[in-house]
Amino acid sequence: MTVATPAIYKGDVVRGTFPKLTRAFHKVKKAVSRVFPELAKVRLYIGCPHALEKHSHHQWKDSDRSGKMWRAFMHTGHFDDTICVHPHAEGELSERQKIGMLFHEFGHIINDLMGYKNTQKNADASIRKFFGLEIKYEGPGRVQYIDLS
Ligand SMILES: [Zn+2]
Ligand SMILES: [Zn+2]
Repeated sequence: MTVATPAIYKGDVVRGTFPKLTRAFHKVKKAVSRVFPELAKVRLYIGCPHALEKHSHHQWKDSDRSGKMWRAFMHTGHFDDTICVHPHAEGELSERQKIGMLFHEFGHIINDLMGYKNTQKNADASIRKFFGLEIKYEGPGRVQYIDLS
């Protein structure tokens, strides 16, 4: 099923620019596209209404009414070739967390691409396998990060 990729939202809810998120996204996308050229078309959707609804910036992990758990700040699988992100990721995540979380999300897209079972663990496993990078977790919210040297 093909779903139209949305443009970056510039409506009433989300204003301003997101230089750190945008820079981190392009950095990670460039790295993953070297191995998977088809990932060059992936877009970042800052302020996806679903992200605004599902990812509380006060809690690291929420469940919605159906009981589905939503990890903080980002999700994939909502629109094709799109990583959705809560705008507060700009200020609330450190650089290494932005990079780690984005790699993790690309790991999910790679899993779909490769036909791998798309679990949280497998997203990190694909990043380890194809890029030799270890995604780690820190803090009470178990937020992803990658050691930047
Ligand atoms: Zn979304
Ligand atoms: Zn995940």
